[in-house]
Amino acid sequence: MTASMPHVMNTYGRLPIALSHGRGCRVWDTEGRRYLDGLGGIAVNTLGHAHPKLLAELTDQMGKLIHCSNYYENPLQEALGAKLAELSGLSAAFFCSTGLEANEAALKIARKAGHDRGIERPEVIVFEKAFHGRSIATLSATGNPKVQEGFGPLVEGFIRVPFNDIEALRAHSANRNITAVFLETIQGEGGINPARWDYLREVRALCDANGWLLMLDEVQCGIGRTGKWFAHQWAGIVPDVMPLAKGLGSGVPIGAVVVGPKALNVFGPGNHGTTFGGNPLSMRAGIATLKIMEEDGVMANAAAVGAHLKSALQRELAGVDGVKEVRGEGLMLGIELTRPCGAILTRAMQAGLLLSVTADTVVRLVPPLILTQDEADEIVALLVPVIKTFLSEAAA
Ligand SMILES: *Cc1c(COP(=O)(O)O)cnc(C)c1O
Repeated sequence: MTASMPHVMNTYGRLPIALSHGRGCRVWDTEGRRYLDGLGGIAVNTLGHAHPKLLAELTDQMGKLIHCSNYYENPLQEALGAKLAELSGLSAAFFCSTGLEANEAALKIARKAGHDRGIERPEVIVFEKAFHGRSIATLSATGNPKVQEGFGPLVEGFIRVPFNDIEALRAHSANRNITAVFLETIQGEGGINPARWDYLREVRALCDANGWLLMLDEVQCGIGRTGKWFAHQWAGIVPDVMPLAKGLGSGVPIGAVVVGPKALNVFGPGNHGTTFGGNPLSMRAGIATLKIMEEDGVMANAAAVGAHLKSALQRELAGVDGVKEVRGEGLMLGIELTRPCGAILTRAMQAGLLLSVTADTVVRLVPPLILTQDEADEIVALLVPVIKTFLSEAAA
């Protein structure tokens, strides 16, 4: 419990402000202070805050039907499934409400695909520094010991290998129990670590050669954030299974696992389900998010403004002692420092900028995809002095 929230369990290290409302890429706290939103609710608020078109769609839907049940056909699920299939080149989706649920569905597909082939103990290859969620199965797939500590025994059936190292993966080719390779196209919580595009192509080929499902967790990097609908499209490949969530509903909770032909018929009636998954309100949020992104060129904006922001940060931080690298794609950017920098959270907030620090040493920017070039310049103007001051003090 924290001093101001004694009736809420103490699971987050919270900053001492409460946000009351937002508009576009700006948010205000309950004291009336204004912030530029460089976090977007952790890559969730694709269309920023109070987007007029999204608001109209959601209001309309709330007046019709918020929730029904998966006992019935649901045309909005079909509409969003068809749109995701069109954008990804995959076949169909299962809908849920969060990222970990999408990953949980993917892991169940990996296991069931094995059992369907007579493999009694299916195994899934996972990666160092991966993050897949905080349920018992997804934290077991996660590669961060801090996430796992205190929650053993972990779920078995995972083999962990280093990221971006094709030989480490190839070394498991003889293991007949493996049914899937599961990775983030760009590791988010692990510190904004992109898979190399040539590595992804090699992983795809290895999965094909070995009969493994390629499962790409695009919960954070998907939905236009990197300037493609899905980050793996930069590598020109298509996965077999793709969990999505975060940005898909612009803030309305929604998750999806999208599958191609090799995974399409693994689940049948009774194999998987969820009460809230696919509810009309979240489907409408997903459909509207993708539609508005197309109408307003939001993905192209993420690519252009992201490239502008990245090069401005690289220019302003070039040669600064303690800055290791500015990296990422589109509006999923990380600034790696040579030392832990959690203190930057508070200082940036005091300067009027919301962001996050991940993997201890990486300042992460995942703002709404409607960020303008002027707002990107403002992020640079606010953030660079904070980083420079932090580093000079830490060095002293
Ligand atoms: C956030 C995240 C998850 C977990 O999503 P939740 O909605 O918090 O359960 C899983 N995978 C990745 C890559 C994420 O960034």
